[in-house]
Amino acid sequence: MIKDNLSKIKSGLPSDVKLVAVSKFHPVEELQEAYDAGQRVFGENRPQELAAKVPQLPSDIEWHFIGHLQTNKLKMVLPYAHLVQSVDSSHLLDEINKWGKANGKVINVLLEIHIGAEETKQGFYEEEVLDILFRAEKYANICFCGLMGMASHTDDMDIVRADFQRIAAFKDYLADLFPELDSFKELSIGMSDDYQTAVETGSTMVRIGTAIFGPRQY
Ligand SMILES: *Cc1c(COP(=O)(O)O)cnc(C)c1O
Repeated sequence: MIKDNLSKIKSGLPSDVKLVAVSKFHPVEELQEAYDAGQRVFGENRPQELAAKVPQLPSDIEWHFIGHLQTNKLKMVLPYAHLVQSVDSSHLLDEINKWGKANGKVINVLLEIHIGAEETKQGFYEEEVLDILFRAEKYANICFCGLMGMASHTDDMDIVRADFQRIAAFKDYLADLFPELDSFKELSIGMSDDYQTAVETGSTMVRIGTAIFGPRQY
């Protein structure tokens, strides 16, 4: 079943769009099932859950962290995460950079963009992203790989598309403005309900949970 879901989703994705299987709240047996079906990229959103799963699964998995990260939890995430998709504050960025320096690592990050109308949504405003990238060289232990975003929480696909178009245009604008940031390529938009729209809008990375694993457990 997981295998069928994966192959159905993969067959609809362009080959240059990375599929991140969002496995939060699913047991390791199900991740193993996805792994056995060929999936190698997994996304988790809670530090403890990530740190607990990593040693139970094959070592060639590429783990992405996609949740809110508190600075006191960095050591549960940064040793394992190939990409931290959800950097949502300058303070967090500073602390990740410090951790990277102390541990001799360069950490790949996406800056999470605040899109959509909801007040509660985490992430940077566009001006804040500009501020950060203008002083990108200050972050010697960070690799800025692009942007991550979520659309407004609505069934109205016109609104979702407009949110995605805005973030895609902003990413292109930044890539032009900062040509020296040659890793700044990724646009992580699209989840189970809206990934097709995201792909049409320029997504390079979709984060899909429910459509692969079904409803979340425990
Ligand atoms: C849970 C989650 C997803 C996956 O959502 P689905 O609707 O289950 O596909 C994607 N991105 C983030 C940031 C998430 O927290």
